[in-house]
Amino acid sequence: MLTLASIVFSVKAHAQSPSVVTDVAPIHSLVAQVMQGVGKPVLLIPAKVSPHGHALKVSQMRALTQADIVFWVGEALTPWLEKALDRLPEDAEAVELLDVDGLNLLTYDTDEKEGDDHDEHDDHHHGHDHAGLDPHIWLDPANAKVLIDAIANTLAQRDEANAERYKTNAKTAKDTLEKLLTDTHSATKTIKDKRYIVYHDGYRYFEAQFGLGRAVTIADGHAAKPGAKRLIAIRKTVAELSPHCIFSESQFETRPVQSLLRGTDAVEAQLDPMGQSIEPGPRLYETLIRNLTNTFTRCLK
Ligand SMILES: [Zn+2]
Repeated sequence: MLTLASIVFSVKAHAQSPSVVTDVAPIHSLVAQVMQGVGKPVLLIPAKVSPHGHALKVSQMRALTQADIVFWVGEALTPWLEKALDRLPEDAEAVELLDVDGLNLLTYDTDEKEGDDHDEHDDHHHGHDHAGLDPHIWLDPANAKVLIDAIANTLAQRDEANAERYKTNAKTAKDTLEKLLTDTHSATKTIKDKRYIVYHDGYRYFEAQFGLGRAVTIADGHAAKPGAKRLIAIRKTVAELSPHCIFSESQFETRPVQSLLRGTDAVEAQLDPMGQSIEPGPRLYETLIRNLTNTFTRCLK
């Protein structure tokens, strides 16, 4: 006979799968792959919204207060999220993915050496130095493999009952990513020497992994609106470079791109580095990389 105690116990056993919150859609997708068959993570920043310069809404704050685990890229992508994470429940865990060991990390200013006179005040209260770090780590599928392991380990520690499931899912996810790496390497072979312009400085990881040339960027890595002076400088660069393509992004206004296109032979195409045009979920990540690859290769061929 079922006693009340045993019913409560069985309900609780089911409710044990942790409540997981993620920041952006590509990270949400990686976590969703690891959690398949156990639960679904919450996507904090809606797919249509650029993480750069976003502000936290009440509903998002509520999701955070109920979280057991938060996977987020880090303050270099969403500085506005860091304060909110201070208000997580006591026993909740925030995993800053930029801190994961084994990632291939790139900085915006590759020629600036550690210890140079960069902003001291920015590093003080963090305990670790993320100054100049490019946070768009997910655009290298090799990094995604490293993240999958870190996500699976965190989940397995928190939720031992489902540890085997997380590990099996992680293995499947990494096999898919391995295939994605191979396919993307062969697809991008013919566009390695092509010149192009991207809207914001967010593609270094993709370029580095697949050996593409460095893009000229209209806006910086934080996607701050380019000023008139910067646009004049870029216009000059565009004239000298005669790029094959100028890529806009669905998350940003296209006006600066349109104005640069005038008087050039360049073709315009739209990149989607956040997966804004894709249904959030386990499949989003692979689709995002394949779409990005198709847009690059089709335009630069
Ligand atoms: Zn970005």
